Amino acid sequence: MKCPFCNKEEDRVLDSRVIRDGLAVRRRRECLSCKKRFTTYEYVERSPLMIIKNDGQREEYDRDKLIAGITLAAKKRPVSRTTIEKIVSEIENEIADEYKLEIESKELGERVLAKLIDIDQVAYVRFASVYHAFQNINEFAEAMQGIDEIKRTALNKEKTK
Ligand SMILES: [Zn+2]
Repeated sequence: MKCPFCNKEEDRVLDSRVIRDGLAVRRRRECLSCKKRFTTYEYVERSPLMIIKNDGQREEYDRDKLIAGITLAAKKRPVSRTTIEKIVSEIENEIADEYKLEIESKELGERVLAKLIDIDQVAYVRFASVYHAFQNINEFAEAMQGIDEIKRTALNKEKTK
């Protein structure tokens, strides 16, 4: 690694540590010529995941966009930012493990839904209404019924107190 101070290429690594949940390695180095210290970061090179949109066009996967979508669906619900980040990381890892370079936006949405349903059903229905684009009105009604049941259960719980 070229020293940023004197441009010589000989250095020694003083310290290496894995950061960002294993996504990167940070190395503290010392130049053998000028003895100055500098830091380098090492990342795994991954081809960007492409999303196939409903109209067939492709766009690069955007983690922030997915997080924003789930955050919106989980607004005022007891779903923490950490949980949302975890959902997204899990899905990213699943896709990476399957060596997929592109994925349909519908499938991406369904993977989010598969995780949300166990976490918060209201967030699940909200997310579904945007990303899953209900196939027909019955499906939507069924999902809404799901919410009513949650509300009823909540009310019954209060009544029995
Ligand atoms: Zn140097």
